[in-house]
Amino acid sequence: MPYPPYFTAEHDLFRQTVRRFVEQEITPVVAQWEEVGEFPRDILRRMAELGFLGVHYPPEVGGQGGDYFMAVVLAEELARSGAGGFPMALAVQTDMATPPIWRFGTAEQIARYLIPALKGEKLACLGITEPDHGSDVAGIETRARREGQGWLIQGSKTFITNGPRADFMTLVARTGDTPGYHGLSLFLVDLDLPGVVRTRLDKVGMRSSDTALFHFDQVRVPQQALLGEEGQGFYHIMWELQGERLISAAGALGSAQYAYDIACDYAKARKLFDRSLTGFQVIAHLLAEMATEIEAARQLTYETAWNFARGTISAKDIALAKLVSARMVNWVVDRAVQILGGHGYVADWPLERMWRDVRLNRIGAGTDEIMKEIISQEMGLRNS
Ligand SMILES: Cc1cc2nc3c(=O)[nH]c(=O)nc-3n(C[C@H](O)[C@H](O)[C@H](O)COP(=O)(O)OP(=O)(O)OC[C@H]3O[C@@H](n4cnc5c(N)ncnc54)[C@H](O)[C@@H]3O)c2cc1C
Repeated sequence: MPYPPYFTAEHDLFRQTVRRFVEQEITPVVAQWEEVGEFPRDILRRMAELGFLGVHYPPEVGGQGGDYFMAVVLAEELARSGAGGFPMALAVQTDMATPPIWRFGTAEQIARYLIPALKGEKLACLGITEPDHGSDVAGIETRARREGQGWLIQGSKTFITNGPRADFMTLVARTGDTPGYHGLSLFLVDLDLPGVVRTRLDKVGMRSSDTALFHFDQVRVPQQALLGEEGQGFYHIMWELQGERLISAAGALGSAQYAYDIACDYAKARKLFDRSLTGFQVIAHLLAEMATEIEAARQLTYETAWNFARGTISAKDIALAKLVSARMVNWVVDRAVQILGGHGYVADWPLERMWRDVRLNRIGAGTDEIMKEIISQEMGLRNS
């Protein structure tokens, strides 16, 4: 798939390798993972061996030293497994819970958490959301208080991807008394510590990814658990969220393209009233419209990723790409289900699963409404 200037021959080769891996090692077994509600830990080690876990991390931490578009390729291709859960869990491991360790971590934190995560030995999760605070990150109430040589953590986190089995959490907690954005800090918390209680949550889609509610009851962590600067946690996590939203947009492109490919092949092959489905103008035009929506979101996402990779982090552009891609993938997958008729609704085809899974794109990593809030604020509309 030539897409200058975004993708080179090296990206294309990587895309072919990942596509083959997905077809041979994920697609045939993902229905079982969905059934049991989790992916097997071995798949992480396997993907680390293949060099898929650290594509855009430098070699000194066990990465492959590729650019950001390698991560975009990986997200797009994993989405072609037809299941959103495992790709989301993997994105938490590689692009959500671990980038802050690389950016803000000490050498010891990198050795203890980042390197084993990129080898697939430790499973990571990210703890931002709380039962009473989702979109309003500034309202976070989980508290870390200094005690002796360390910190004592008290509070709850919910909807945590990888939570039931994760080895550690990149956690956002309040360390200062000032309310709002100030006084939040990041911590790396081992999840086998006394006082960590987890409850598994059930959900409508994304079922090959497991999710947990956490309660931290006076969990004692050492001084070295603090990640980055004390009191700067909000700004550290806002930086992390930019990459998270962009990877979510790239995954949405992959899912939409895959749903389109299935619907298009089906419409060409399906014969009704003595002609193929594409012989009906309404279906041919619907497919044209689907392709148009995908391409528009693709251009916006690639252009934003291109700038992001070169250090231009525009919260507005990233919110635009996330919002457009999330809405687009829901629209496209819903139309693909319609084109397959009853076959779109039964579990023999991946579309019913994708239809359930992509609903999360409009909620996770910041809801549609929050994306519009960011865009309108950046446009100065809320201040006028
Ligand atoms: C399957 C799954 C996996 C997840 N994984 C993780 C994870 O690994 N780590 C993690 O920390 N979180 C995770 N989340 C949480 C996710 O990021 C939140 O659900 C999301 O940010 C929304 O927060 P909330 O659910 O508390 O909704 P709320 O913030 O309570 O929002 C409720 C509604 O109000 C709207 N709303 C909120 N504020 C405004 C506003 N200012 N203006 C207009 N409308 C507004 C929202 O858009 C939404 O429609 C996950 C969620 C799910 C469902």
